[in-house]
Amino acid sequence: MTKSASCLWVTCPIIIGAGPSGLATAACLKQKGIPSLILERADCIASLWKLKTYDRLHLHLPKHFCELPLLGFPSDFPTYPTKNQFLDYLESYQNHFGLEPVFNKVVVSAEFDHRHGAWRVMTSGPEQEQIEYVSQWLIVATGENADEVMPFIEGMNDFGGPVIHSSSYRNGRSYEGKDVLVVGCGNSGMEVALDLANFNARTSLVVRDSVHVLPREMLGISTFGFLVQMIKWFPIRFVDRFVLLMSHLVLGDIEKLGFRRPKIGPLELKNVSGKSPVLDVGTVAKIKSGNIRVYPGIKRITFLGAEFVDGRKERFDAIILATGFKSNVPQWLKGADLFSEKDGMPRQPFPNGWKGEDGLYAVGFTRRGLLGAAFHATKVAEDIELQWRAEAPMLVDFSTALSL
Ligand SMILES: Cc1cc2nc3c(=O)[nH]c(=O)nc-3n(C[C@H](O)[C@H](O)[C@H](O)COP(=O)(O)OP(=O)(O)OC[C@H]3O[C@@H](n4cnc5c(N)ncnc54)[C@H](O)[C@@H]3O)c2cc1C
Repeated sequence: MTKSASCLWVTCPIIIGAGPSGLATAACLKQKGIPSLILERADCIASLWKLKTYDRLHLHLPKHFCELPLLGFPSDFPTYPTKNQFLDYLESYQNHFGLEPVFNKVVVSAEFDHRHGAWRVMTSGPEQEQIEYVSQWLIVATGENADEVMPFIEGMNDFGGPVIHSSSYRNGRSYEGKDVLVVGCGNSGMEVALDLANFNARTSLVVRDSVHVLPREMLGISTFGFLVQMIKWFPIRFVDRFVLLMSHLVLGDIEKLGFRRPKIGPLELKNVSGKSPVLDVGTVAKIKSGNIRVYPGIKRITFLGAEFVDGRKERFDAIILATGFKSNVPQWLKGADLFSEKDGMPRQPFPNGWKGEDGLYAVGFTRRGLLGAAFHATKVAEDIELQWRAEAPMLVDFSTALSL
């Protein structure tokens, strides 16, 4: 590594993002004897999980589908680890592999410099100081959930109460006895509504789009695990029909509760659009018991509450937008074909989409959660290893270079 005013030449791969994907990639590289430099905008690892999720969050999927490569969960972890257990796991993962991300470095631009055959990665620090890192390999691990999606809803600025995104919601304590509207019925919206109802908030949920809601478990077996097994043996449409039938037996007819099922089954929908089914953790029961009311789309927000597309008007004290997240890659990655400008996701669907031109890689953009991240982290490390071995004699170990 050679240092000039604000430009650092890095002889190892640069990884942007110290979430599970970035840590997994760094660990896989380290295991092959390849150092890496992780740049992270927050002041901690796994900032999505640490800073932007609610207290009652557990892994949505059974733990064996959420392990990172090379180091599994402790055996005494429950099937669905809590958010804090998952964070403990990530911390021990980081320590086990001796990973030391550089924190408070927001990547503001990255572009391939054809003249020098390297990626120029510009970062901004807490004092607005800019440092440019230059490397031959760039691994994008900034996640599918980098930025909050804040929808435009007519009249929202006129609302008299607080409007927050679900990433700022921790628990329902301060909402007890209040009328709260949750907008969005993905996994987060459904669970935030459940949490509010458990804290005795009068909770309403906006279900605008069609959605598959499946029980998290059927007859004591994880629905996700069941799907993974079934798909190995049976055609996708058969598995979809079967799981919807089972779901009907467990949850009942959820269309009567205000949900519309998509025209195609959950697995087919996932393949076509990347949209995941919601795994119910108790919200449907609360809707059935009348503790959570369901509304169709919002027509407009008013000072006192909301007017819905079916003509109903209700008063609300607070609104929580569980409207999801999006990739931020198009904001800072320039001239790279790997990612679509439109949604910041790889243009090629899974299992591709992890490798671009000129030493560019993507990890954690598969719409398949931690399982997809682990798969691509392994592939990226294997691919870089081939180049590293060929060039090793010319490279200086980053950790050695740092102390120069
Ligand atoms: C509420 C919730 C529950 C979930 N539950 C599950 C689950 O049970 N199982 C599962 O498999 N998946 C789950 N997911 C999906 C989740 O996205 C992944 O589990 C995991 O966090 C993805 O890891 P990642 O490293 O790809 O992205 P992230 O965890 O989002 O990490 C990306 C990192 O990049 C950093 N970053 C972003 N932009 C920049 C920049 N410009 N410069 C520098 N750093 C940057 C961020 O600060 C962040 O630390 C859940 C997601 C949410 C929101």
